[in-house]
Amino acid sequence: MEMLIAGGWTGGSGSIPVLNPYDGSEVDTVPRASNADIDRAIAFAVDGATKVKALSGYERYHMLMKAAALMEERLEDLARTITLEEGKIIAEARLEVDRARETIIGSAEEAKRLGSEVVPLDGAPGTGNRFGFTLRVPCGVVLAVTPFNFPLNLVCHKIGPAFAAGNSAILKPATDTPLVALKFARLLLDAGLPPEAIQVVTGSGSEVGRQLCSDPRIRKISFTGSRDVGEAICGMAGLKKVTMELGSNSPVIVLPDADLDKAANAIVATGFANAGQVCISAQRILAHETVYGDLLDSLGPRVQGLQTGNPLDDDVRVGPMVRENDAIRVQEWIRDAAATGGRLLAGGERDGAIVEPAIVADVSPDMRISCDELFGPAVGLTPFESVDAAIASANDTNYGLSAAIFTESLDNAMRFAKEVDSGNIHINWGTQWRADLMPYGGLKESGFGKEGPRYAVEEMTETKMVVMHLP
Ligand code: NDP
Repeated sequence: MEMLIAGGWTGGSGSIPVLNPYDGSEVDTVPRASNADIDRAIAFAVDGATKVKALSGYERYHMLMKAAALMEERLEDLARTITLEEGKIIAEARLEVDRARETIIGSAEEAKRLGSEVVPLDGAPGTGNRFGFTLRVPCGVVLAVTPFNFPLNLVCHKIGPAFAAGNSAILKPATDTPLVALKFARLLLDAGLPPEAIQVVTGSGSEVGRQLCSDPRIRKISFTGSRDVGEAICGMAGLKKVTMELGSNSPVIVLPDADLDKAANAIVATGFANAGQVCISAQRILAHETVYGDLLDSLGPRVQGLQTGNPLDDDVRVGPMVRENDAIRVQEWIRDAAATGGRLLAGGERDGAIVEPAIVADVSPDMRISCDELFGPAVGLTPFESVDAAIASANDTNYGLSAAIFTESLDNAMRFAKEVDSGNIHINWGTQWRADLMPYGGLKESGFGKEGPRYAVEEMTETKMVVMHLP
């Protein structure tokens, strides 16, 4: 496919193959954007920002609702594209398209709610006869940089609110998964959005990232991806607004009074979806020593029952990782853990990009499978003696995106919610749960700023203060 610049589909200065992670076949190619392409896109977006801003909220609402309707019509094609370029099993890909449609509908609704506020200036001394109010205005040009693992919904979480708020947007999708993003851009044009509203620049982030991120004409960057790239982008961004949605190594605490069946089901559901390549995948399972053995026993057959294979096959539960290199890395981390005191109870074998879903017991905090973001189909279990120790372990990380606890005790649940430093807290379900309308984002090195259409619109607007000096 070609990229979308200044309203036209265009090639670049070379092409990049998009590979099917399951069998390595070439799905398509995308262009490699040149410096001139990027400059043209930014110039067009700057001019276009005025045009998008001039649309009424109702017009923006209407266009996004039309886009949502087209997403329903094109669901199967979008879902297959996700599976072919990312390796996500087809059932999860269909779910992603459904969620992405909801994200666009939620964004459409926000286009009608861009309100302002009267500021009671007479509350300050000596303000006299003055009347003050705020105006919320779009940032101007928004740059969206997105990861491979939800190649449609995370694009929608940025482009939907950016347009709802009246911005023009440039999207830089992940190089592994640009096709569904390009199809979505075409769909937006078909829905009647002006070409200024969306441009898509393809090319490797390490090649095109600096020019895009450091350009002062871009007023807002919304990034989802790894911690290190996020830090690099913050370094390049200069004086512009930035939202960072980064990684994690999410903990799940299981207390003695937990419903163990439910905990085991949730750990499997939230640890292995998308082959573990989810920013809020359950990774560090901390179980009280009195239930540790029972939890291991109930996890074993559940994890071994996860069928691996071709992600287009409806029976398959765990498909390939996005790249074979990632599968090799995950296998190495599992092997390292097993060689340094961990017990490999299931999985860990690799066939190409597919890693057999794994359980590693007796994991210690210094193992990479615990202290780094694993981003693969494995969970590590560690026993603990007291609630104090479990909360300390949950917090013993530079990340803070999602954390979960299983307990019937309201006191322990509330203590967990207050004391664990995490942007998302789940009580009696695993770490991987998200309604697309909720405020979503991390603490600590998991990032800053929130997504979810209402919150992303706030991040993509600025406030002007207006004071009327009355006679
Ligand atoms: P990366 O950080 O590798 O890439 C994310 C995006 O950044 C890609 O589009 C990539 O382009 C681009 N990029 C890479 N280098 C640069 C650069 N120097 N300047 C500008 N852009 C650059 O992440 P992955 O795609 O591998 O995604 C996985 C990561 O995303 C995990 O850490 C995961 O936790 C996180 N994530 C966080 C979420 C959240 O909501 N908090 C949700 C989903 C994922 P290219 O592909 O061309 O390299």
